[in-house]
Amino acid sequence: MLAANFGKIEGNVIFDARNQPMIGIGPPGEVLLNLRKELTMAMVVTEPCFGCKYTDCVTVCPADCFYEGESMLFIHPDECIDCGACVPECPPQAIYYEDDVPEKWRDYIALNREMAPQCPNITEKKAPLC
Ligand code: SF4
Ligand code: SF4
Repeated sequence: MLAANFGKIEGNVIFDARNQPMIGIGPPGEVLLNLRKELTMAMVVTEPCFGCKYTDCVTVCPADCFYEGESMLFIHPDECIDCGACVPECPPQAIYYEDDVPEKWRDYIALNREMAPQCPNITEKKAPLC
């Protein structure tokens, strides 16, 4: 992930505009690798998953971080390692990088975080509901 917005610099650490740590490769303004995003940004399951549950996604997740709600799946944001393997496995295209979630589905970011810890883990494919 490339990023161009940066704030203060302390030692070898470059901070972004929101005061989150980044690391810099080369002088500021050249190529910056956003360490915070690389380490913590999660995938988010959004509305197209509702009622679907093809669950192809869970079979490829190396972190086993999908959780099964009553009507859709959720990704635990603290467990997702941001590998991207699940994205092409989702026929309705319900999975987005947190930063890329369409505006109309931004609430799903908080919903995934809220619901994943409350739901059972799912690691095996199930018959689709639709
Ligand atoms: S494949 Fe996509 S739509 Fe289907 S259960 Fe997984 S995240 Fe939901
Ligand atoms: S990005 Fe990787 S770790 Fe995160 S939910 Fe998808 S497959 Fe699992």
